[in-house]
Amino acid sequence: MNTMSWIDNELRALEDESLERTLADTGVSRSLPGHLMRGGQTLLDLTSNDYLGLSRHPDIAEAMRGALRAKCGSGAAASRLLTGNRPPYSELEAELAAWQKKEASLVFANGYMANLGTIRALVGRGDAVFSDRLNHASITDGIILSRAGHVRYRHNDVEHLEHLLKKSDKARRRLIVTDSIFSMDGDSAPLHKLVELKHNYGAMLMVDEAHAEGVYGPSGEGLCHAMDVHREADVIMGTFSKAFGVYGAHITGSRTLIRWLVNKARPLVYSTALPPSVAAGIFRALGIVQTAHDRRNHLQEISGRFRQKLAQAGLSVMPGDSPIVPVIAGSSRDSLRLCEALERHGIAAPAIRPPTVPAGSARVRFSLSAAHSDAVLDKAAESIVSAAEEAGILA
Ligand code: PMP
Repeated sequence: MNTMSWIDNELRALEDESLERTLADTGVSRSLPGHLMRGGQTLLDLTSNDYLGLSRHPDIAEAMRGALRAKCGSGAAASRLLTGNRPPYSELEAELAAWQKKEASLVFANGYMANLGTIRALVGRGDAVFSDRLNHASITDGIILSRAGHVRYRHNDVEHLEHLLKKSDKARRRLIVTDSIFSMDGDSAPLHKLVELKHNYGAMLMVDEAHAEGVYGPSGEGLCHAMDVHREADVIMGTFSKAFGVYGAHITGSRTLIRWLVNKARPLVYSTALPPSVAAGIFRALGIVQTAHDRRNHLQEISGRFRQKLAQAGLSVMPGDSPIVPVIAGSSRDSLRLCEALERHGIAAPAIRPPTVPAGSARVRFSLSAAHSDAVLDKAAESIVSAAEEAGILA
């Protein structure tokens, strides 16, 4: 008896519902920024989180090469709590804390681990976590792992959140957690109101700035700074895999918080430190992000213009002002048909399907980058409208 045959059955069911995910070999175009190579074709890349176009910045690559040349080692070879805590880490963390105007910062291997480890370190049995329904999967998984009560509130619905907070007076500790920019919808969290509720109900507040760092704030600090609530956010999380164009993540807050996480965040304690060359790359990227005003302004301009063009053509564009521009297609099949039509027009953009988003709201998500020019995006908007017509999305 083949005890693994159930997987074939499950995969067949996924395939039948247009829900199977596969890995496609993808390269970058050497000559065209903001483009990728797939199946021998050059496509406009509207898939990536490279918001500032830094993933191919020569100075960042050179900082990484420099660390390798200086023989920092290709790997850290140990957890930071043992002997993996190489020099670039502490310098980077001091700089991150200063940038975020907080006391201390801690670098993690990636955003997934930062969320998982931090939430698990902050809450446990007898506590309650209030989490926006559309929060990232790493937040959800951290809550499940923590064994705290998982209280999901309707997306950005602060009245619903308050109602749930009122009912939770038996919880020992309370944590409100939200993405600042939502990865699948591209809209933003009502941070002022969340701060008010945090104060009124004695809750901790954690904000995931994965899609906002680099993009919002006077020096790219994120939406908390742009909305002037960074002092009230107890825990700020950001990732270096998106606007920074590198890899890794940070948790920033009070000295006490960081001291606690060094002891209790299991992905930090039990996993090898990021390679020192990566930390050196992040350090260089942080300097660039802080002064990348032109890139930020350009990104904001193209995002507004692109949204407007698609909406004017009658596409169902989700509201927001971020560089994440989702267009609702409907069913999973519709979203895949639109992707295929886009590819024929030379555009790569992913179909986002259930369970990542609710059934009936499958969409194609366009993610813009400062690497894209006005002219390229204007042409892309026209091609997207044609592709939508071909796919039967636009009546
Ligand atoms: N939080 C959010 C909101 C994200 O979108 C992501 C990445 N998709 C993460 C956390 C995880 O970050 P990383 O890719 O660095 O693991």
